[in-house]
Order: sequence, then C-alpha cells, then structure tokens
Amino acid sequence: MSLIYLDYNSTTPVDEKVLEEMLPYFSNKFGNASSKTHIYGWEAEAAVELSRQRCADFIGAEPSEIIFTSGATESINLAMRGIAKAYKSGGNHIITCATEHKAVLDTCHDLSNDGFTITYLGVNRDGLIDLNELEAAITPTTILVAIMMANNETGVIQDVERIGLICRKHQVIFLSDITQAAGKIRLDVNDLKIDVACLSAHKFYGPKGAGALYIRRKNPRVRLVPIQTGGGHENGIRSGTLNVPGIVGLGKACEIAAENLWEYGMNTSKLRILLEQGLEILDSVRINGTLKNRLPNTTNLTFKSFSATELISSFPDFAFSTGSACTSALPEPSHVLRAMAISEEDAKKTVRFSLGKFTTEAEIRIALDTFKNRLKN
Ligand SMILES: *Cc1c(COP(=O)(O)O)cnc(C)c1O
Repeated sequence: MSLIYLDYNSTTPVDEKVLEEMLPYFSNKFGNASSKTHIYGWEAEAAVELSRQRCADFIGAEPSEIIFTSGATESINLAMRGIAKAYKSGGNHIITCATEHKAVLDTCHDLSNDGFTITYLGVNRDGLIDLNELEAAITPTTILVAIMMANNETGVIQDVERIGLICRKHQVIFLSDITQAAGKIRLDVNDLKIDVACLSAHKFYGPKGAGALYIRRKNPRVRLVPIQTGGGHENGIRSGTLNVPGIVGLGKACEIAAENLWEYGMNTSKLRILLEQGLEILDSVRINGTLKNRLPNTTNLTFKSFSATELISSFPDFAFSTGSACTSALPEPSHVLRAMAISEEDAKKTVRFSLGKFTTEAEIRIALDTFKNRLKN
C-alpha cells in the first residue's frame, strides 16, 4: 500500500540537504557551542552563528534578535510569559484571538490565573478578525497583542501589517505566531511591524525540536524576563546547552525555504486548486476561510455527504486531518471552526488537506481517483 501524505501543516519530513548539513554535528563536530577554550566549541559556535544569520535573513531581522528554542510552543511560552512579567507594572491586559494555536490560548489561560486579563477577539465567517474591534479593545493597561499570521487549520492569513500599525499607534507590543506562514509566504518583520515572532523548523522541512524566537531590539526595544534560568545562554534569555544539530538544521531549512518560496507557492497552489476542484465535482464541498488570503498549500473543506471519521477510515492510505480535536473520548469540533460559526454538524464533515513541496500532481490525481471510487455509494 503506497501512502500519500497530505498533512504537511502537522509536520514535514526533513529535507535531505538539511539532514546532510546536520549530520556532522552529531558526531565529528559534537562540540558545545559555549566551550570557549578549544576548536570543538569554536566550530559549534560558528555553525550556530551561521544559522542565526540565515534565520534572521529569512524573516528580515538582525541576528542579534534571534533566540534559539525547542520550537514554537516554547517560543510562545517564553515570549508571552516573559513579556507579561517584564511589563506587569505597565498593565495586565493581553489581547489575542479565538482561533490562535493552543500554545497561545493555553498560555493566555494560565496567565489569566496569574492576574492577567485576556480579551479573545472573535473572527467572522471568513476567519478574519475585525480591525476596528481590535483597536477598540486596546486600553491603557494593554501590554501585548498576540495574533497569528496564518492559521494552521484553515490557512487564513490575517492582515498582519495593519494589526502591526494599530499596535504601533497605541504603543502595544505585537507578537505574531508565524509558524505556519514561515516558508510558505513572503514575510518581513519590519514591513509587517511585528515585534515578536515564533517559528518552528519541523513545519518547513527542518528537524523537530528546533525553533526560534524573534525579539525586536529597536523601535521599540522589547524586554522580557527569562522563564528558564541556568548558564545564561542566548543572551541570558534561554539558558541551556544549545541543540547544535537542530539549530544547524533550522538554519539550513530557512535558507532553502527562502530560495524556494516562489516555486513553493506556485506548485502547492496549483495542486491545491486541482484537489479542490476535483472534490467539488465529487461532493460539492465548501471551502472554509477567506478565499482571498489563504496559504497556498492549505484547504479546509466541509463535505456535503460524508463525515470526517468516515473519510479517515475509508482512506487509511492517505494522511490528512479532521476538523475535530480528539482530546477527549468524544471528538469536539475544533475551536477554530467553532469560532468561525461553523455548526457542529458541519464541523463533523470537515477535513484539512495540507500539501507540501514533495506533493506531486500524480499524488493528487490518485487521491481524486481513489475518492471517486470509494465514495461512489
Ligand atoms: C505547529 C504549530 C505550533 C507549535 O509548534 P511546535 O514547534 O510543534 O511546538 C504553534 N503554532 C502554530 C500555528 C503551529 O502550526
């Protein structure tokens, strides 16, 4: 049975060129990047600094603004908790959005137990926040706005630049989770007025367990209190021996993604449209989220006659995900679909396909043929 992977928003395979560059840092070049007295340490440090440069170039930042972490979840925790602590005397209000990743929502929930007040902005049927509502929600005690760039379930892209401008105007720090946007669409933290951003290597053909946090150093300079203490690594912001192979992989993944951005967009959007049109003919599916500004690779579809569980079990040879989170015994409709006012009944008929740079036209055609054959009755 040949398997077809259409779940690239969950994770991606490591690119061969990324792996090749990582391998020596597990064995020959195993040094600790903080060892200052010998070549093993210097070699590791040089590799880490090259990755920092590549990662900074990838998002239009300076190398001194990049902190390496274990992934986006850690970056989000460090940023939100660290900023909350550093700016506590200036206010206790944080604004976010109902469709954020759980890493943001659960961290907000935890901060609310520590005396912070959280505003959760809703979204419209297209998955977009209302910018007037955002501006009206800002009060003199607001210290942070956290709105993601692209949604992992729907691919919906928020108007990040205008959000950034509103935050600038009111002198509030703007954090954007760019984990799904990175490597899929062009982005520059200065153009977009983003002050803090997080990303994760495994979402764009790098290794799992390696990520980065971007923290603006100028206009405004963002401060944060470390949440992990120890040897003072990463400017004292994230103590702990650096994951050198992982960081090398992240850097190489950034470099490759930057070079391939245009080709990636062309290929994945072409194949995504082929898939959407084929399924539309089959079962008049509905696309969830705005059609105007979506990631090229992602499609969130509500089928007319088939349930997601039915689809998943009929297609064991395909990897894609449902619009429900099975965190409990009973699958709950995803918080993203619920926020978009998609009914529980429709959420049960909703699946997400996310394509990647290794997806081929042949795979999409096999998928469509298979769907046609197995869904006949
Ligand atoms: C995957 C993902 C995360 C979490 O990233 P990890 O590196 O796996 O912790 C956070 N936000 C978004 C939007 C994601 O897609």
